[in-house]
Amino acid sequence: MVQDVRIAKRTGFCYGVREAVDRAKEAADAGRMTHTLGQVVHNEGVVAGLHARGVVPINGLDEAEPGSTVVIRAHGVTPGVREAAGARGLEVIDGTCSWVIAEQKELQKLVEDGYTIVLLGTPNHPEVVGLLGFAPDAIVVDEEEDWDRIPRRKRMALITQSTQPPWKFERLAARMVQLAHELKIVNTVCPVTIRRQEDTVDTAREVDFMVVVGGRSSANTKELTRLCEIVGTPVLQIEHARDLVDPAVFGSATVVGVTGGTSTPIEDLQLVAERILETAGTPDARRRARVIALEALGAAATPAGRTTSLPRAGGIAAAAAR
Ligand code: SF4
Repeated sequence: MVQDVRIAKRTGFCYGVREAVDRAKEAADAGRMTHTLGQVVHNEGVVAGLHARGVVPINGLDEAEPGSTVVIRAHGVTPGVREAAGARGLEVIDGTCSWVIAEQKELQKLVEDGYTIVLLGTPNHPEVVGLLGFAPDAIVVDEEEDWDRIPRRKRMALITQSTQPPWKFERLAARMVQLAHELKIVNTVCPVTIRRQEDTVDTAREVDFMVVVGGRSSANTKELTRLCEIVGTPVLQIEHARDLVDPAVFGSATVVGVTGGTSTPIEDLQLVAERILETAGTPDARRRARVIALEALGAAATPAGRTTSLPRAGGIAAAAAR
């Protein structure tokens, strides 16, 4: 039975997602009619919370109320979408992550410099769609079976969607060395993603079982699950605390680790930790589930690595005392 839980450090919202969520909240709190273009994060709880605050997601600009404010989410958009929003008289609040803006600028420069561009990314992912607005002719490749489509050209450039795993980017770079006379490599793998992967691996090495929390189709979440498997720690990927119903999945684990993707608020990790203890804990762990989960959250809250929407330390202590 489970006696203890650990939450991986440097989890919770990445700074890009956090900023976009905060922008949407600020706009709604200022009394503006506020939309997000697409769901600001793929997390039901967060979207519902924003909705309650007056932030309504839309799928296209034509759904925006005239005169309303549209928040661009962290993934960014094409220049065409931005222009169209202006033309419709909408106020645009740019929540594009600064890292993604840098990627867009790099791409624009590669286009100007005449490179044949290969973009490692998930086709139709909003970030990739936005990036293609800056380099419409870029060749998008994802899994290794795609890579045979990459042509041989004299001057080629490789760039990546921010959340692609570093090992994949390196492997593709090695492949492309054979295809070009000149190869320019622009490493745009987001450092937040890398740190999260490192801390997840560290946690997976210390525990008997891992729970990864995030969207089912989230690439960065799936990568965390894959890394736990590589470490050799049994792992379960879920979207919500309520997905944990069967204590048998934990087998004989006594210590369970919890980590999450870049769109998963750290508060969700605490809820999952609590649920693990309530579902599969020893009698003592069940009784103290909330306190143990809050302690795990507090231990994960290193100020130096704070890229999350963590409550203040005082907030954790106060909650633990309840
Ligand atoms: S993963 Fe990195 S690049 Fe993507 S939104 Fe978060 S901080 Fe920005």
